[in-house]
Amino acid sequence: MDSKKLQAIHELIKSYKTIIIFPHQRPDGDAMGTAFGLKHMIEASFQDKTVYVVGESSEFTSFIGVPDVLEEDNIFADALGILVDTANIDRMGDERFKLCEKTIKIDHHIKVETYGDVEYIDTSRPAAALIVLDLYNMFKEDYILTKAAADALFFGILTDTGRFKYSGVNGDTFRNVAMLYDSGLDAGEVYDYLDTRTENFTRFKGFVLQNYEKTENGVVYFKILPKYLEEFDVNLEEATSLVNELGKFKDCPIWALFAEYEEGIVRCRLRSKGPAINELAGKYDGGGHAMASGASLGTWERTELILKDADQLAKSYKEGL
Ligand code: AMP
Repeated sequence: MDSKKLQAIHELIKSYKTIIIFPHQRPDGDAMGTAFGLKHMIEASFQDKTVYVVGESSEFTSFIGVPDVLEEDNIFADALGILVDTANIDRMGDERFKLCEKTIKIDHHIKVETYGDVEYIDTSRPAAALIVLDLYNMFKEDYILTKAAADALFFGILTDTGRFKYSGVNGDTFRNVAMLYDSGLDAGEVYDYLDTRTENFTRFKGFVLQNYEKTENGVVYFKILPKYLEEFDVNLEEATSLVNELGKFKDCPIWALFAEYEEGIVRCRLRSKGPAINELAGKYDGGGHAMASGASLGTWERTELILKDADQLAKSYKEGL
C-alpha cells in the first residue's frame, strides 16, 4: 500500500466537484464493481459531488450498475477522471478521459504503460476493488461505505478472485470483506445473481465440456464459433464466461477460450495454473496477470500460433517440474 499516493488520490477527489470513472472495454465484474463502489462511496461521503461512470455497458455487470451516457463533452473538461482496472490505455471504454483536467489510474495489473497524474498500481491486490477499500481504510473519517458501495465492491472482489480461490487472496482480503458485511453488504443477493443460469447457457456449457480440445502438452482449448452462439441462443459474454470450466483437468496447466468479438476480431481468454502467461499474451497484442491474461489474435487461423506457443510453454513447464 502506498500511503503517499493514496493521500494524493484523496486530495484530488476532495478538490473536484465532478468525477468521472472510466472502466475498461468489455468491462468485467471487477472493473464495474470498482467503478460503482467508488462512485457510491464518494457520492455518499460528499453531497456536493457528482460522480459518473462512463464506457461500455455489459449485461452481466448491469446487476451492479449501468454506465451513464454523457453526450456533452464539456462535462469532462472540469472533471477529475479516475481510470480503473486498466493496464493499457487503449483498452479504456471511453476515450474522453483525455479531456479531463486531471486523471488518476487505479489498477492491480502488471504495469504495461504509465498514465495518469497519479498512478496507483498494486499488483498484490487480487481485485482492483480492494484498492478502493485501501482508500477507505486510510481516510475512514471522510468516507461512508454504503450498502450499494459494499455490494459493488464485493461483486468486484468475488468475480476477480474466482470466489476467493485465486492467488493473491489472503487474510487481508477477508478482513476487507468482513468490513463490507459490517457496512450492510447483502452477499446472498450477489451470490444468487451469480448462480442463476439460463437453460440455454447450461446446455451450451455441456457442449463445451463435451467438445473441448487439447494439445500434446496439455493446453486445453475451445473455439466458440459464431454459429454456436446462434445454435444455443447464448450471448458472447455468457459464452466466454465459461473459460474456467476448461481449467479443471489434471496435467493441463494452461487453457484458452477463443471467440470472435466482432467480425474478424478473434480474442482469447488465457489462463494458467502453472507457468506465467502474461508474456505469451503480450506477444499477441494482449496482456494481463501472470495466471489470467487476454490476447487479440485477429483471425481464426492465428489461434493456431498462440496454441503452438502455449503448448511449448506447457512443455517446458512440465519438464521443469
Ligand atoms: P479476461 O480473459 O478478459 O478476463 O482477461 C484476463 C486479464 O487479462 C484481465 O485482467 C484483463 O484486463 C487482461 N487482458 C485481457 N485482454 C487484454 C488485452 N488485449 N491487453 C491487455 N490485457 C488484457
